[in-house]
Amino acid sequence: MIKYQLRCASEHEFEGWFRDSADYDAQAGKGLIECPACGSSEVRKAIMAPAVARRPAEGREARLAEIKGDMLKAMTRAREYVEKNFDYVGDKFPEEARKIHYGETDERPIYGEATGRQARELAEEGVAIAPLPGAKLKTDKAGAPKTPPAAAAKKTN
Ligand SMILES: [Zn+2]
Repeated sequence: MIKYQLRCASEHEFEGWFRDSADYDAQAGKGLIECPACGSSEVRKAIMAPAVARRPAEGREARLAEIKGDMLKAMTRAREYVEKNFDYVGDKFPEEARKIHYGETDERPIYGEATGRQARELAEEGVAIAPLPGAKLKTDKAGAPKTPPAAAAKKTN
């Protein structure tokens, strides 16, 4: 036996039991299925979308995972671009970023390392810096990662 959700021409919905889908087709073809509400024999199967209707959370999670993947790819591309095209200045980053900002040296794209406090101080002085997304953590001799990993600076205006 098979159960179908049915709908008449006046949009009344009701359920009908059939031996199989061929049985439904035969009865519907002969006009033997009638709407219990209005008696219309103009009946069709209601359109069902169980995957969407029953599990909206799954669709959302899949979409979120997709967005997260896209962001990771974009971050990786940004980091690769910086590492390829910017000068790595290491711990001298705050000093070099300031020199560029105050015009004491030629403007050039650099990236390097700064502590959270140094990064805050630079930002307060109006030096345009940004954390480098997805940057590899550089480790010092003891093997401890330095934080934050890196920042990129570019003179604005
Ligand atoms: Zn009806």
